[in-house]
Amino acid sequence: MKTYRIAAIPGDGIGGEVIDAGVEVLQALAARENFALAFDRFDWGGDYYKRHGRMMPQDGREQIRHHDAILFGSAGHPDIPDHVTLWGLRLAICQPFDQYANVRPTRILPGITSPLRRVSGPELDWVIVRENSEGEYSGIGGRVHQGLPEEVATDVSIMTRAGVTRIMRFAFRLAERRPRKFLTVVTKSNAQRHAMVMWDEIAAEVAAEFPAVTWDKMLVDAMTMRMTLKPESLDTIVATNLHADILSDLAAALAGSLGIAPTANLNPERQFPSMFEPIHGSAFDIMGKGIANPVGTFWSASMLLDHIGEPAAAARLMRAIERVTATPELHTPDLGGKATTRIVTDAVVAAIQADNS
Ligand code: ATP
Repeated sequence: MKTYRIAAIPGDGIGGEVIDAGVEVLQALAARENFALAFDRFDWGGDYYKRHGRMMPQDGREQIRHHDAILFGSAGHPDIPDHVTLWGLRLAICQPFDQYANVRPTRILPGITSPLRRVSGPELDWVIVRENSEGEYSGIGGRVHQGLPEEVATDVSIMTRAGVTRIMRFAFRLAERRPRKFLTVVTKSNAQRHAMVMWDEIAAEVAAEFPAVTWDKMLVDAMTMRMTLKPESLDTIVATNLHADILSDLAAALAGSLGIAPTANLNPERQFPSMFEPIHGSAFDIMGKGIANPVGTFWSASMLLDHIGEPAAAARLMRAIERVTATPELHTPDLGGKATTRIVTDAVVAAIQADNS
């Protein structure tokens, strides 16, 4: 029997609660399938930082380098600046492992109500592809004359032809596999006349390689309106690191709750392990209360299974998730319900066990 090695990194806040739930559900699933999962848990994050002065050990990446995939909770701690936690853990894995394609599916699961009045469900079914290795989050910049009146601070957005071409190819390929074969390229080339103009040019060049895909272009500001007013006019979306970061939080809210949304940080060439995580952060306001919605982690776990080559198990997990979200008594407080993380996890495990297809 094939055994996959998964690195579980709960991180901070509710990360521990949702990753425990995710591991439990994945093990229940493996018990029904013809494969095994071996989890190694890495307690990196804010508490580790307080003991060691860094978010993960110096050789941390080496420790997870040969795992089949990474299941990640969240990074963020109330006592540590956000840029330290983000760059010290999440981005310290994403960037060196060249997880350049961040994929964020958004749709309204059965039983979930969108805050959009006119949307009942099928009108909103998107996949957002976020460039995950450069752009506005390249990390290039600095500060001089710190604290003095003449202080200068820069963050330089870097776009490379290689980086833009590979994310465009990834997005067009993904759009080609979806029924509508339709891609929207988000841009801001009216105001940013260098890198974003190159971004547009490369989109047009790559489009020629995918004649089956219809595509259009949208300024990021206008995109927020189109997402809320005409969600049915969108399918696959590609955007820069910053733009997609913002648009995907909007997408998660429009689909019902931040607690449901999943994401995959992919190294498509599989030179390094890819990382799967819920979109939400560490949510310290609800930590330890047992009410964190684990669905975003479960959906991410389904994406993980697809990636490692277990699509039947991935589909079984999605069916179990949808059966549970369709039942309002199984909704956590973020969805207006009273269920706990425990109740939702047990219900998903039971749905996996009861699924005979
Ligand atoms: P971070 O700084 O790590 O991004 P944050 O607390 O600023 O964390 P989020 O964790 O993304 O931001 O959460 C925003 C709010 O959404 C939280 O305060 C919480 O109430 C709610 N929330 C987020 N995730 C969940 C979840 N899985 N279940 C229930 N509520 C959630």
